[in-house]
Amino acid sequence: MDKTLQRFLDCVRIDTQSDDQSESIPSTAKQLNLAKRLAEDLKNLGIAAEIDQFGIVYASLPGKEGLDPIGLNSHMDTALECSGKDVKPQIIENYDGGTIELGNGYSMSPKDFSNLNKHIGHDLVVTSGDTLLGADDKAGLAIIMAVLDHFVSHPEIPHHPIRVCFTPDEEIGRGPDHVDIKKFGAKFAFTVDGSSPEEFSYETFNAAHADVIIKGVSIHPGDAKGKLVNASTVAFAFDRALPEKQRPEFTCGREGFNHLVGIVGSVDEAKMHYIIRNHDKNLLESQKKDFEKAKAAVEKAFPGCKVELKIENDYRNMREVIDQHPEVLEAAFKGYKRVGIEPKIDPIRGGTDGAGFSFMGCPCPNLGTGSYNHHGRFEYLDVNEFHQMIDLVIAILSE
Ligand SMILES: [Zn+2]
Repeated sequence: MDKTLQRFLDCVRIDTQSDDQSESIPSTAKQLNLAKRLAEDLKNLGIAAEIDQFGIVYASLPGKEGLDPIGLNSHMDTALECSGKDVKPQIIENYDGGTIELGNGYSMSPKDFSNLNKHIGHDLVVTSGDTLLGADDKAGLAIIMAVLDHFVSHPEIPHHPIRVCFTPDEEIGRGPDHVDIKKFGAKFAFTVDGSSPEEFSYETFNAAHADVIIKGVSIHPGDAKGKLVNASTVAFAFDRALPEKQRPEFTCGREGFNHLVGIVGSVDEAKMHYIIRNHDKNLLESQKKDFEKAKAAVEKAFPGCKVELKIENDYRNMREVIDQHPEVLEAAFKGYKRVGIEPKIDPIRGGTDGAGFSFMGCPCPNLGTGSYNHHGRFEYLDVNEFHQMIDLVIAILSE
């Protein structure tokens, strides 16, 4: 078996699920098992690696003098939604377009996952049906390792100095929290954490959240006429006062949304939590105004109730930063051109660790990995596309 695929398979067999309930750093100690393994692997390539106190792996490979150092990042943890313990990856050679029996009573066919059709004739790595695969983002780790391996074994190829950092806890939103961007030392960087090779992203949402606390007037229902104000009823009215078509289930592409993610209520008090998202920061501001309007509307319609509304910003669209640094896109497009891939520029309907890096001063778009259906048992890797991604990253980093 080829060494790069073997490296990927070794990585997915190490359980690295993070834990959003944990206060420790990294959130789970088992992520360090993979960190150590990667540091060891780097050492075998002759590259010094450091695991810092936060579990972040840093490494660098010198390149041609005068060229900008370019950074590469992938995350080591796997998602909360599905177990990553005892992953038993299976290889499907030369996929024929039929139904894939994963095991454990689960199968996967192009009827349910139409994206499978584009992998006919390729080798795939799939799960055994009872865990996720962890290609998100161990495919990214293996791609970066393969790129380093390539440049180490071909010292005659002039390339940019390469700065690597592998981070824990991306899936719980803490990926860039402890990264020392100075130590990382890249002029700009790429996260390798997407899906198909042509997918290139440097736009994220602008994100905010709203907490709504409604205080009603609780009176015995037998004696309630003209006095009772039911906080839960006001909560329903508040939600209806927001634009109906601006819920996630009605939006796609660059359309923003308000998403009610939680509600608890009694007669006396109701609490609601919303996340607010838009790629355009002016539109995000106008969505925030809709919350103010909803507050005014229900206070008017339900005299006696009190509505507390607290809106806070979470993260910003990294495009703001990328637009200031045309050299980042130039470097990426040069790479796509060299390997003959036409990049598809899609806005991410979420955030990325790269957005965090970008606002810390290191512009950082996201590249694909060749893996699909992340965060569950139907996750798979297209081995051919995985190799294409290795070629693409090499092309970006070569002089
Ligand atoms: Zn990921």
